[in-house]
Amino acid sequence: MSDIVKTMIADRRRLHARPEEGWCEFETTYLIVARLRALGFEVWTGDRAVDPEHALGRDPKLVEAAAARASAHGVPQVFLDETKGYTGAVGVWKTGRPGPVTALRFDIDALPIDETTDAEHEACRGGYRSEIPGFSHACGHDGHTAVGLGVAAWVAENADKLCGTVKLLFQPAEEGVRGAAAMTARGVVDDVDWFAGAHIGCSARLGQVGVSHHGYLATTKFDLDITGVPSAAGSPEKGKSALMCGAALCMSLGSLPGHSGGITRVQIGKFNSGTGRNIVAEHASLVMEVRGETTEINDYMAKAVESTVSGITAAYGCTYDLRRVGEAVTYRGDEEAVELIKSAAAEVPGVDSVVDMNAKVGSEDCTVLIRRVQEHGGKAVFFYFGCNHHGHHRHDFEIQDETSLAIGWGVFTGFLKRTNGLQAV
Ligand SMILES: [Zn+2]
Repeated sequence: MSDIVKTMIADRRRLHARPEEGWCEFETTYLIVARLRALGFEVWTGDRAVDPEHALGRDPKLVEAAAARASAHGVPQVFLDETKGYTGAVGVWKTGRPGPVTALRFDIDALPIDETTDAEHEACRGGYRSEIPGFSHACGHDGHTAVGLGVAAWVAENADKLCGTVKLLFQPAEEGVRGAAAMTARGVVDDVDWFAGAHIGCSARLGQVGVSHHGYLATTKFDLDITGVPSAAGSPEKGKSALMCGAALCMSLGSLPGHSGGITRVQIGKFNSGTGRNIVAEHASLVMEVRGETTEINDYMAKAVESTVSGITAAYGCTYDLRRVGEAVTYRGDEEAVELIKSAAAEVPGVDSVVDMNAKVGSEDCTVLIRRVQEHGGKAVFFYFGCNHHGHHRHDFEIQDETSLAIGWGVFTGFLKRTNGLQAV
């Protein structure tokens, strides 16, 4: 096993033990930035990596608590100040030789899921189970981050054999499709000629690489707060019930008609309201999402949410605040980039199968970065490097890091050899 692969596995386990949710990845970002700087990368952090105006679904209270936790765990204050409260980073390597700008994207956040304590679970066996109660890397983004750092080490080692510029995007807050919009809006991919992103697992088993031509549903995530007028239950005419308004909205939004043009989805995931039996509820909140097979169909669903909320809150005499807190578009890969990934994957040790793999019903905010790259004339691709798992977003998600990470790393570095290599890297 090479030193880079050993380091990737160690990094992944270290990250696995300290999972941080979206926009809260301070310990993670510190590890990334320190490593990139040590390797000689120019590093963009804070509002140079993401546009705060487009930081969707970022809760300042959670961010503050996460920064305090990171500080208590040894992240220097000077670094926390540098981030200005915004996680994520971009590592830039300019070879000084003319050539294309290539960006690779790695998402870094974890999920609010308690990790299993089953003694047979990989992380329990290996002694790197999550140390943060209620959170775990149940989607493998710890593996993505470790692969990104492994690619960074490879770029530094092989810099004299590369041309052009390599950008490594360590994106915060993929869960809830929140972070990519902020990196896109900051302009970090506006000059990019080649782009690749990937996910571990999904439908790809260990040893398999799936390359994607098209897919993913466009999606919009909403948070809704409803405000009514409280009153005693004995005088209901003096109140406006946010609870009844919210309940009516759950039924109306949940039964929005679909679209003949393709797949649609609507999901209300959470509804909170009420303070006591004999009080007309003043507040209600909903978290929900819609999806569509095309960006246009998703827009149709999102507009239907807006008009339904507006109409039903008016009917109940309530006011509301409806916020878009996440977004992703559909994906279409560029065939030239798809072919480069396929030929790179075919050469990676441990890969026994390279297949076409198009995600039909999931969503992934890498699509937002990809769309921007393509709008500027760049070519982009998304692929999967496999692992064997029981399902993503589960408390027992596993990735077999000793085998899977080297495969992801091999495909990304093979892509770079093809886009930015002088002969025979
Ligand atoms: Zn994921």
